[in-house]
Amino acid sequence: MRWHSAGDVRLDDVELELPLGPGMVEAEVAYTGICGSDVAEVKAPFAIRPGRVHPLTGQEPPVTLGHEFSAVVTAVGEGVEDLAPGDRVSADACWRCNRCEACVSGRYNLCRLSGSIGLSSDGAFAPLVRFPAYCAVPLPDQVSDEVGALLEPLAVGLHALDRGGARAGERLAVIGYGPIGACAALVARSLGLEALVLERHAGRRARAEAEGFATLDPAGEPREVAKQVRGLVGSGGAEIVVDCSGAVPALEAALEMTTRGGRIVVAGIPKKPLPVDAGRMVLYERSIHATLGYANDLPRVAAMIAAGNLHPESMITRRIPLAETPAELFRLGADPGDDVKVLVEVRA
Ligand SMILES: [Zn+2]
Ligand SMILES: [Zn+2]
Repeated sequence: MRWHSAGDVRLDDVELELPLGPGMVEAEVAYTGICGSDVAEVKAPFAIRPGRVHPLTGQEPPVTLGHEFSAVVTAVGEGVEDLAPGDRVSADACWRCNRCEACVSGRYNLCRLSGSIGLSSDGAFAPLVRFPAYCAVPLPDQVSDEVGALLEPLAVGLHALDRGGARAGERLAVIGYGPIGACAALVARSLGLEALVLERHAGRRARAEAEGFATLDPAGEPREVAKQVRGLVGSGGAEIVVDCSGAVPALEAALEMTTRGGRIVVAGIPKKPLPVDAGRMVLYERSIHATLGYANDLPRVAAMIAAGNLHPESMITRRIPLAETPAELFRLGADPGDDVKVLVEVRA
């Protein structure tokens, strides 16, 4: 499934463009999840830059989408010694330069040249995918192929919680129960924090309730919503609020629902600049942390699942064949309904 331009994604028959050069891996795709960013790139391109050759991947659009996947290694390039044909893997989607200060310090999600599989290079809505071996994340036996395709968004949830310094037993509110909100709430549970989920959509709220989360419809004024949250989580409010909505009133409400010393983690990208009441932060040491993707988090998620601490299967609300994927992107862009994660069965 190839992205050609805004509003133009379709199934094409093409040869793999990336060479299986040194340090590269080729794999047969099993499952690929549809990400909010795939939907966003079709509506209003953000990461894909038409007419620009990516400095790390050497590719330019059109590009095959898909960066949340599980696959089986079919071939490896020169110098790849820790992977072999037959290995089951998922992938960290981040291309990185491995030289800039961010990369050297281990925060390659902030790489100056960063790119993503499935946006900056051909991705996994295709039978075969090639990517750097450093991206490969071996799947433990306990992690199924379906769940292997969830490691990437779960890593986003884990990274967000780490950014907020989440600790077991703290009170947590998660705003938005889309794929990332669901990942944050599920990962938090396995870390010993039980989320209160704020979600406007009744169907998604029902999904969160079915998962056992307390929920709230954050209708109304931010201060009123915050008051309801304090009533539900107790005492002064939540120690951590993870905003996965990117909605304009969410940050204001988040600030009001945190307890003294609370941390707000902004994971959604607001559509326009938001005013922040710095006075409410100084009184009393509330802080805001931005989170972007993940760095070295997929193996940790795989280990949590393998240990039986994390059960993300219920996030998958629908499975579709690759042939239906372009239409599905348009449908999700128009109205996601109560879907959380739609999984594409690439390996027929
Ligand atoms: Zn994604
Ligand atoms: Zn770098």
